[in-house]
Amino acid sequence: MTESKKYGFTTTTLHSDRQKTIEHGSLHKPIHTSVTFGYNDARELATVFQGKQSGYRYGRQGNPTVSALEDKINKMEEGLGTICFATGMAAIGAVTQALLREGDHVVSSAFLFGNTNSLWQTVGIQGIDVSMVDATDVKNVEAAITPATRIVFVETIANPRTQVADLARIGKLCAERGIVYIVDNTMTSPYLFKPKTVNASIVINSLTKSIGGHGNALGGSLTDTGLFDWSRFPNILETYKRNPAPQWALAQIRAKALRDFGGSLGPEAAHHLAVGSETMALRMDRECKNALAVTQMLEADPRVAAVYYPGLTSHPQHAISTELFRAYGSLFSFELKDGIDCFDYLNRLKLGVSASNLGDTRTLVIPVSHTIFYEMGAERRASMGIAESLIRVSIGIEDTDDLVEDFRQALDA
Ligand SMILES: *Cc1c(COP(=O)(O)O)cnc(C)c1O
Repeated sequence: MTESKKYGFTTTTLHSDRQKTIEHGSLHKPIHTSVTFGYNDARELATVFQGKQSGYRYGRQGNPTVSALEDKINKMEEGLGTICFATGMAAIGAVTQALLREGDHVVSSAFLFGNTNSLWQTVGIQGIDVSMVDATDVKNVEAAITPATRIVFVETIANPRTQVADLARIGKLCAERGIVYIVDNTMTSPYLFKPKTVNASIVINSLTKSIGGHGNALGGSLTDTGLFDWSRFPNILETYKRNPAPQWALAQIRAKALRDFGGSLGPEAAHHLAVGSETMALRMDRECKNALAVTQMLEADPRVAAVYYPGLTSHPQHAISTELFRAYGSLFSFELKDGIDCFDYLNRLKLGVSASNLGDTRTLVIPVSHTIFYEMGAERRASMGIAESLIRVSIGIEDTDDLVEDFRQALDA
């Protein structure tokens, strides 16, 4: 398989490791557990440390098994380079650690993964100002931009209410203003959507979710798409300007975030995630089909008050989702009519497991306001459109009819 030929998503992912030397003919990239890497010539060790030759030195900064996964993710996102982290949050944290300084300003979508919302509060008390806006309309993003704005941050489909950001128009705006555009692609995955096509500068993926897909390993990634001109960015330190400008941000993030904060992905987790990624497209096809079937059933049932899924024609961003995404994802949420207790409903499900996490092969359900969005309080929840009875569903790869029947029978009190 040569780099020049353009293969489909799954073919490329499956054969990614074979583009480098295959160790002992091993079809899986071996799990390298060595923390350190020795050299016969001490001078070579020095050239690796000085960045004049590529190579491994200490596991916190890089590991061959993790590098192989970085290559896979990078191919999926068609990026310039990708860095893996211990979790998705470590990848998002890397952005704040490596690219932002006191006095900088961030414009973020207000419809956010709960822990990212909490991270913005953390950096807020450290002197970085974050404006939260409704990013379903580019006008709100534009109005919030100040001369100090360094980053615009959005999710593709917001978790849990499934609002879809005005992705393409925000990308155009950021390009015009020279602002770094960061897209958290976790909810769509690079199979359903490539943020590079809407001019994203950096793409975040929680590998824990659809990419790993089996709920057996945590991981995160950050991909530089190569579209941003880092020579226009004021926060790159002189030390990381030795190579051409396209490499600056990756060099600074690998050193200032991965090395200095140490949120490194372990080789065993990288192996699990790499194996999981081989079937991502197959799993997502099934999950998207399942999500559409279950949401259509729920929407037609009079006992359900509201269903949020971009695949439904009733969804406010259905048209833009159809334009941008291959399909509408594995996550939806819904509200029951008054009189049906959300806990009782969840307890009547036989297949949907009450658990956090998403993008698992199994269907997972969670009462949002009482769990993952509990800490932020009722006022902030209300501002994000999250009802107290909202149920979030991460649909799995179970047989479609089994899931439709499970979610239907649980409505019968
Ligand atoms: C889960 C998730 C994260 C964080 O990923 P972890 O691997 O759990 O740290 C970030 N963003 C989104 C949209 C997520 O769903």
